[in-house]
Amino acid sequence: MKYVSTRGNAPALPFEEVLTAGLAPDGGLYVPDSLPHFSAKEISAMAKLSYGELAYTIMAPFVGDAIPEKDFRELIAKAYGSFRHSAIAPLKLFEKNQFVLELFHGPTLAFKDFALQLLGRMLDYNLSKRNQKIVILGATSGDTGSAAISGCVDSKFIQLFMLFPDGRVTDIQRRQMTTVLAPHIHNIAVAGTFDDCQNHVKAMFNDATFLPNHKKVAVNSINWARIMAQIVYYFWAGLHLGAPHRAISFSVPTGNFGDIYAGWIAKAMGLPIEKLIVATNRNDILDRFFKANDYSQKGVEPSLSPSMDIQISSNFERLLFDLHKRDGKKIVTLMESFKTTGALKVEDSVYKQAKETFLSHKVDDDATLETMRNTFEKTGELLDPHSAIGYRAATKLFANADHPIVTLATASPAKFRDAAVKAIGIEAPLPLHLKELMAGKERFTQKPNDLQEIQKYIVGAV
Ligand SMILES: *Cc1c(COP(=O)(O)O)cnc(C)c1O
Repeated sequence: MKYVSTRGNAPALPFEEVLTAGLAPDGGLYVPDSLPHFSAKEISAMAKLSYGELAYTIMAPFVGDAIPEKDFRELIAKAYGSFRHSAIAPLKLFEKNQFVLELFHGPTLAFKDFALQLLGRMLDYNLSKRNQKIVILGATSGDTGSAAISGCVDSKFIQLFMLFPDGRVTDIQRRQMTTVLAPHIHNIAVAGTFDDCQNHVKAMFNDATFLPNHKKVAVNSINWARIMAQIVYYFWAGLHLGAPHRAISFSVPTGNFGDIYAGWIAKAMGLPIEKLIVATNRNDILDRFFKANDYSQKGVEPSLSPSMDIQISSNFERLLFDLHKRDGKKIVTLMESFKTTGALKVEDSVYKQAKETFLSHKVDDDATLETMRNTFEKTGELLDPHSAIGYRAATKLFANADHPIVTLATASPAKFRDAAVKAIGIEAPLPLHLKELMAGKERFTQKPNDLQEIQKYIVGAV
């Protein structure tokens, strides 16, 4: 399988190169040139697989012969062996036809571990084979950073620089990054928003004169391998709820559109997905698109769900590419217009097609807290604010669901303790490993919201 750019003007790459590619040279994002498709019979045959076996089955066609089967199975086993729950992604019934898929049992307590535990290991595997060193540049709204660091912490081939918005991630999120003292891990607190951080990282990738002698690698959700790893749990949940014989819908707390895009791909690969619900917080560019074909940028406002405080959803370009019959030229026009005007609108027929699969719902902070409180009272389960947004959207849009709706629980409530106190008035006890975290020594660098200052620091530290 080869990978092509959403802007249609970059050389196709094999998997091993897409693993270390950031944006394509034409500014687009890499996507597979074709998708594997599983028949109903093939999906039925997956029903008894363990999570690791299923992960291999779903991902093998994307990886091809880039990693031999035995080695790939081993990397998968190691990646998910770091999870604390033996089911890896347990599924819970909250009320009739409303399920919650817990994706937060990995080492950093958010769903990003599913992709980054594997990506870190695949990178290291590739680099050690080639004896090559790389520089990873990333931006995080809170959870990517720690998950990326955790996935790369043992590598001898990686220097990792992580930008995060100073003061806009929780103490636990920050400490999960900054208490990793390994010399190849560098955390940079930027006096700006997540979008600023993401823009700086994009600019550094586009600047050939910056670190000209180093291979720069992205681990943000623009990295195809992350999307790939996230497809697996859609199948996992679907198989547990009767796929391929029964349709399932998913509600996904959404920021950068990576997680829900994996659901879109799962559907294209044959999983019977009825609807995908885009659940957003007050930063609602995606809700406005799916409600009114209005993808127009506004300022980012902080919310109780900081990992979704995003206004430009990078992976949305991948959906636009699919919706425009994979016509790169159209995407160039759309994205150029978005860049200059800050707004984008698609043709009616394209919009209609998007609406066939996607629904959306926006949830403000008060409703988030109310949902955390209500579900806790009804079920005894505490949702984190991101997952609560997903659950709220699922139950509002499908009040009397006639088929299973699965909300992706993207983070553990232990990660967002202030919100839990606001919602239910009590502080959930800290798991032991988090107690240790709160006592650990931190190391990070503060920088102004200025690309040149940040670049100067990185050049000096690499
Ligand atoms: C990253 C993140 C999201 C958003 O996921 P995207 O793939 O960026 O849409 C939602 N919830 C949590 C807890 C996250 O860490």
